[in-house]
Amino acid sequence: MAKRDYYEVLGVDKGADENKLKKAYRKLAMKYHPDQNPDNQEAEEKFKEAAEAYDVLSDPQKRERYDQMGHRAFDQTGGFGGGGMTMEDIMNQFGGMFGGGGGDFFGGGGARRQPRGERGSNLRIKVALSLEEIANGVTKRIKVKRQTTCDVCDGSGAKDASSVSTCTTCGGAGVVRQVRSTFLGQMATTTTCPTCSGSGKMIKSNCNNCKGEGRVYGEDTIEVNIPAGVEEGQQLSMRGKGNAGRRGGPAGDLLINIEEKPHEFLQRDGQKLIYDLHLNFADAALGTSVEVPTITGKVKIKIPAGTQSGKIFRLRGKGLPALQAYGTGDQLIHVNLWTPKSLTKEETALLEQMRDMDNFKPKLEKGDKGFFERMKEYFS
Ligand SMILES: [Zn+2]
Ligand SMILES: [Zn+2]
Repeated sequence: MAKRDYYEVLGVDKGADENKLKKAYRKLAMKYHPDQNPDNQEAEEKFKEAAEAYDVLSDPQKRERYDQMGHRAFDQTGGFGGGGMTMEDIMNQFGGMFGGGGGDFFGGGGARRQPRGERGSNLRIKVALSLEEIANGVTKRIKVKRQTTCDVCDGSGAKDASSVSTCTTCGGAGVVRQVRSTFLGQMATTTTCPTCSGSGKMIKSNCNNCKGEGRVYGEDTIEVNIPAGVEEGQQLSMRGKGNAGRRGGPAGDLLINIEEKPHEFLQRDGQKLIYDLHLNFADAALGTSVEVPTITGKVKIKIPAGTQSGKIFRLRGKGLPALQAYGTGDQLIHVNLWTPKSLTKEETALLEQMRDMDNFKPKLEKGDKGFFERMKEYFS
C-alpha cells in the first residue's frame, strides 16, 4: 500500500512549525489511542501512521530529507526490517518526549501484553561471500557463540515447578501501573516490574544448569539464508535468532554483516560484472575467438578483426541479480591491447618495419568510439 504524505496524515501545511505539529499530533493520538479504541485494527494503524509522521516531521534533519525525497528518503535497502514504527518505538518516543523511563504507553485495554522476561541481546556476525554465492543466494551454516534457552528448565530458570511462585510486587502481570500526566492528558502507563524483571514470577530455587538465568552460553550452529544480490556493507537481520532472553524472555535479533570475497577474474560494479580482457595486437587485428570466465563458467566470444583497444563487449544477463527485485545485470568485457614489456632484437626489427607502414598509422573514422562514448556505453 502506498504511504500517505506525512503532512496530509497530520493535516498540516508544509510550513507548519513545531507547535502546530504537536497540536495536530496530539489531536490524532487522542482520537486513535488504543485505549479509546480497543481491538480496533484500523485505529491502531491510524495511530501508528500519525506517530510515524510526527516522528519524521518533528526532527529537522529527517524533515529536510523528507521534503527533498519524500518517502524514498527512508526506504531501506532491500527491504530488510522495513515497515513503520512498532508500538514499542512509539512508547519510546513518548518516553523521550516527557522524560519518563520509556514505559508502556498503554495501561490496559487492547494492548495488554504477556508477562515475559528480559529480551536477549542482538548478536552480530560477519559473513564473507563469493560472487558465485551472491549470484545465487546461499544458505550458510555458521557456528556462533551465543546464549540459548536452557533445556533443563525450558527457559524458566527454576529448579522445578514447585519452586516458582507469582511475583508479589506485580501480582504476576510482569508490569506495574502508574498514572502519569502527559500532553495527551492523564494516562495510565505501565513499566516493567522491577522485582521480577517482567517475568511475573519469583523463583525460590534456581535451575542448576543455568543458575536461574533460563539460558546458557555455548556454541551453536545457525542456519542463515542469504538472498541473491546482496552487497558488501549491507546488514540483514533475522528476528529472534540472537541471544536467548532471560527467564523465557524473547530472543534478540541476529544481525548479519555482508562482506564480499574478491573474485579471481571478475570485478563487481553494482549488478554489473567486469572482465578485463588482454588481447595480443595480432589477435585484435586479425580477429579470433577467446574464452572468458563468467560466474556460471567459461563462455566463448568472437573477437572481430579490427577490434580497437577499449572496446566493451556485453554478455546480457551474465551479471548479478538485483536484491529482492527483478532483472539481472550484464557482464562487460573490456578489451585491452597487450603491449610487450620488453623486446628482442628480432622483434624490434619487425616492429620498426610495421611502424613505417601506412596502414598501421591511427586513422580515426566517424563512429569510432572515444573514451566518453565508451563510458556512456558502460553505464547504459
Ligand atoms: Zn513482578
Ligand atoms: Zn535452566
